[in-house]
Amino acid sequence: MNELADFKIRNTFCDLSSEELVEKVHQRMDEKRFLHCIRTSKTAEGLAELYHANVDRAQVAGLIHDYAKEIPIEDFKKIIVYENLDPDLLNWNRAIWHGVVGTYFIEHELGITDQAILDAVKKHTTGAPEMTTLDKIVFVADYIEPARDFSGAIKTREAAKTSLDSAVGLELTQSIEHLVSEKLPIYPETIISYNVWGTN
Ligand code: GDP
Ligand code: FE
Ligand code: FE
Repeated sequence: MNELADFKIRNTFCDLSSEELVEKVHQRMDEKRFLHCIRTSKTAEGLAELYHANVDRAQVAGLIHDYAKEIPIEDFKKIIVYENLDPDLLNWNRAIWHGVVGTYFIEHELGITDQAILDAVKKHTTGAPEMTTLDKIVFVADYIEPARDFSGAIKTREAAKTSLDSAVGLELTQSIEHLVSEKLPIYPETIISYNVWGTN
């Protein structure tokens, strides 16, 4: 497991050690997704250095961004109802829930309450009209981590070397094009984000 060699979280932003946090993330998902999370963490760290964001937050946010992706659908539905979240969420699926609702599980199971990290996780799938540098870093890192080899990822990786905002715009544009080509419904937040970052 090359990705895991020397991988250590410097500041876990919770009471867990680096080993405990990584192990808990690992337990919630299959091996493939776990390694994607490690690569996203490393990519987010690199972007944070380049764009002068907090490298420790980027490292943790990248690691945990998909923490909730394999949590059972029924568990998400319960949280949406019991926590009085927007009822329209019930019309969507885990592709949308794992970020915006997934932070509930991150707070309760990992004990991470840092709002900047939680916001970046919430926005990592759809983007948002207002994004901090950390939000943009996690959004882009997820899309350009080294194992992403489709043409959209290659273009976005290139753009991210010189402009984080251009990378966000390109990612949103390509994601919407992809969703349209598959005749999939587009979550309103994705469209609102595209209108801000993908147009000029
Ligand atoms: P991943 O969790 O690492 O696979 O990456 P993401 O969190 O970015 O995306 C998760 C899934 O959500 C992908 O399959 C996207 O195509 C899908 N997705 C992103 N935005 C939308 C949207 O607006 N509508 C729908 N239906 N799916 C979306
Ligand atoms: Fe995701
Ligand atoms: Fe991801």
